[in-house]
Amino acid sequence: MKLDLLGERQRTHYCGDLRKSDAGKTVFLAGWVARRRDLGNLIFLDVRDHTGITQVVCTPELSAEAHDKAENVRAEYVVGIEGEVVPRDPATVNAQLATGEVEVKATALLLLNEAKTPPFPIEDETKTLEETRLRYRYLDLRRGKMQRNIRLRHQAALAVREHMNEHRFIEVETPFMTRSTPEGARDYLVPSRVHHGHFYALPQSPQLFKQLLMIAGYDRYFQIVRCFRDEDLRADRQPEFTQIDVEMAFPTREALFNIIEGLIEKMFALVDVKVSRPFPRLGYDAAMEMFGSDKPHLGFDLAWKRMNLPAGAEEKLHIMQPFKALRVPGWATASRSQLDKLQEQAKASGADWFAYAKVDESGAHSPLAKGIGEDAVRTLVSGVDAKAGDLVLFLGLKSAQADRAAISKLDNASGDLRLEIGRRLELIKPGTWSFLWVIDFPMFEYDEKEKRYGAMHHPFTSPREEDLEKLESDPGAVKALAYDLVLNGSEIGGGSIRIHRQDIQARIFSTLGLTPEKARERFGFFLDALESGTPPHGGIALGFDRIVALMAGESNIREVIAFPKTTSAVDLMCDAPATVDQEQLVELGLVHHVDAMRCESCEGTWLFEYEMLGRGGTAPVVSCPVTQEGFPLQYSGRWGAKHKKRKSIDWDIVRDFS
Ligand code: ASP
Repeated sequence: MKLDLLGERQRTHYCGDLRKSDAGKTVFLAGWVARRRDLGNLIFLDVRDHTGITQVVCTPELSAEAHDKAENVRAEYVVGIEGEVVPRDPATVNAQLATGEVEVKATALLLLNEAKTPPFPIEDETKTLEETRLRYRYLDLRRGKMQRNIRLRHQAALAVREHMNEHRFIEVETPFMTRSTPEGARDYLVPSRVHHGHFYALPQSPQLFKQLLMIAGYDRYFQIVRCFRDEDLRADRQPEFTQIDVEMAFPTREALFNIIEGLIEKMFALVDVKVSRPFPRLGYDAAMEMFGSDKPHLGFDLAWKRMNLPAGAEEKLHIMQPFKALRVPGWATASRSQLDKLQEQAKASGADWFAYAKVDESGAHSPLAKGIGEDAVRTLVSGVDAKAGDLVLFLGLKSAQADRAAISKLDNASGDLRLEIGRRLELIKPGTWSFLWVIDFPMFEYDEKEKRYGAMHHPFTSPREEDLEKLESDPGAVKALAYDLVLNGSEIGGGSIRIHRQDIQARIFSTLGLTPEKARERFGFFLDALESGTPPHGGIALGFDRIVALMAGESNIREVIAFPKTTSAVDLMCDAPATVDQEQLVELGLVHHVDAMRCESCEGTWLFEYEMLGRGGTAPVVSCPVTQEGFPLQYSGRWGAKHKKRKSIDWDIVRDFS
C-alpha cells in the first residue's frame, strides 16, 4: 500500500473538538481509524484520537481519490483528513458522541500508516485477558479508559506539585543507586562492575535522604518518586511504585496533617469529590479494639467492644478474657445459615469461639444461656446497648493467655468479620470517601520467630516523649509518633515525626538488637549527620498509584500505571526480567569463565577459571606441574588453575581462584 507523507500539515482540531458551531469550517484532523462502514459509494470512517471520535464521510463526488483510499483502510490505520464540517441530518445525530451533531466530508485522505489487526478491539469496555492487554500495552493504552486514567494521573501529579510548591516545599531528586534503606522489604540489587562483589540497592524509599535534606537545611522537601521493594506481590502491589514523599523541618503533626489534607482535597477535586475536613483521628489501640484493623473502613458504623464475662460465668465458659462483642443493629433476623457462615469465617480468621444473641421485645435469646444463664446473657447484651431487633455477636479465643499476640489475633479476626458483615449487609454506600488518620502506633512489633523486636514503622521514627523511659524496660508498651492515612479501609500513606537526637537513635537501635558496630556499618553516614545539627523533623509518604486508582474508581493499581508488571513481577511486553549475555555476568563479577583444555606439555588436562579476558597488564604464566614448562594465559584479573596428569582422576590445584 502506498503511504502518504504528512508534510507540513498540522491538525486544526482534535477528533473530539468539533461541534455544530464549527459547521462550514475546513479542517484537518489526524488519528486512528476506529471503524469503517462501507456502503459502496459512501464510506464512513470513525477517526479517533485521545480526545474523541469524529465521523468522516468519503464519497467519489467529494474526492474520488479519498474514496478509493478509504476502501483500503482498516481498523487502527493512521490517517489524516481534510474536509468540511457539516451538520448531520437530525435523524443521524449520534447523542453518544460529543461530536455527534456533525461530520467531516473528506476532500482529501492521507494514509499515514497501516496497522496489523489488533489482538483486541480498542474500546473502553474490555473482556480481554489482562495478560493480553499487558503484552500489547501500547494498544491497551490507546483505549479511551486507559487514556483517561493516565491523564488523570498526570493531573494528579500536577496538583501535587502545585500544592506543595504553594506550601513552600521544593522537589529534590534523590539517588536510585544507593545503599539499603530499612523499610522492611527485600532490596533490589544492582551489581557494581567497577567494584566486584559490591552492590547498590535500589531505594525502598528515600527515607534517609529526605532526613539528610532536613539536616542540610532544605526545610520542606517533597518528591514524586519511584520506590523499589522486592516483595511477594499482591493485586495492589508493584515491585516499583510511586510515592509522594514529604518531609518538613520543625513540624507539628497537626501542621503536617493540615498540608496533607489540603493536598488530598485538591487531588480529589479533580474527580469532583468533595472531601470533608479535618479527617477524623483515631488512636491505634481504639482502632484495633473497635474495628479490628489499623486501617479501618469507617464508612459504616459497626464497632466491637472488648468485654469480660460477668462474675460467675468464667467457670462455666472457658474462653480468653477479654473477648469481643459487636452489636449489629436490626439484624436479629439473621438466619441460621447466615450465622453459620459467619462462624466459619471467624474460624478461618483465627477466632475459634463464636456465639450470638438475638434481642427482641421479650429480651435476649442466645444458645449461650444454657451454659452461663439468662442473666449473664442479659448483662453481655446490655454491655453493647443492644435494643430489640438487634443481633449481638461474640468472638473469642477458647484457651489462650491474654498476651499481646493473642489479643492481636482476636482483633484481626474481629476486623475480618466486621468487613464481612459490612459487605453482606451492604452497609458501605457507593460514593463513600471515608478518610481517617490512625495515630499513636506502637513503636515496636515483637517478632515471634526471630524472638526480638522490630520497628513497626521504621527505626527512625520517634517514640512519644512520655514513653522514652519504657524503651528498655517495656518496649512493647512504647508508642510512636507515627501515623497512617486511611481511605475506605486502604492505607494510602504513612509517616512519622523522626528521631533527631543521636542518643535516642542509639537506644532505638539497641532495642532493635543492632549493636553499635552493626548500626555504624549500616548507617554510619547517617549517624554522623545526626550529630551535625539535626532539626526536629517529620514527614510522610503517600501511595500515589493507589490514590490515583481510588480516584479513577479502579480497584487495581495496574490500571493507572502505564507500564506495570504482573503479580509475578514480569513485564510481559518487553519480557523483563530477561537473561543476559554470559559476558555481562563475567564483567560484573557474578560468574567466571571456565575453560578445560589439553596440556600440550604432558598430555594431561588443564582446567582454568578466570574473571576476564586479557585486558592490559602482563599475561600470567602458568607452569605444568609435570614438565615445569611455562604457558602464558590470555586473560587477566583473578584466575585459578587446576591440572590433571594423564590418566589420573585427581586434580592438582596449581593456583586457587580467589
Ligand atoms: N519512608 C516511609 C515509607 O516509605 C514513609 C515515611 O516515614 O515518610 O513508608
